[in-house]
Amino acid sequence: MLAIVLDMKISRIEHLGIAVPSIEEALPYYENVLGFTCYNIETVEEQKVRTAFLKVGETKIELLEPTSSESTIAKFLETRGQGIHHIAYAVEDDVKEALAECEEKGVRTIDKAPRGGAEGLSIAFLHPKSTQGVLTELCEEKK
Ligand code: ZN
Repeated sequence: MLAIVLDMKISRIEHLGIAVPSIEEALPYYENVLGFTCYNIETVEEQKVRTAFLKVGETKIELLEPTSSESTIAKFLETRGQGIHHIAYAVEDDVKEALAECEEKGVRTIDKAPRGGAEGLSIAFLHPKSTQGVLTELCEEKK
């Protein structure tokens, strides 16, 4: 693992994903206590989640609420409870190329091909077994 060097360029932390049982219950903390503004709430059917986005400077907080008990977020909440779910890095090249490079170099991936994430951005997940225990999302840089 340590011998792997990835050529893909990570430009910044795009967002932190936080699993919550209810966006409505979690939002007052982020908006009123921390003073962030939620600028978008949308459902990503494909992932069976509802997401709420708040800006924190250059990066974002993504709240993830399961829309079905089948959702991986529902399973995460059951086993780990509410809290940080993943870190998302913005990659400069396209996600497809970054993912292909990871696979080629032996980094375990969850997605075999990029999928559509919130805000219409292309995303892909890397497996925590290959990322020091942190579920890692590669995210297309918003143009
Ligand atoms: Zn995410």
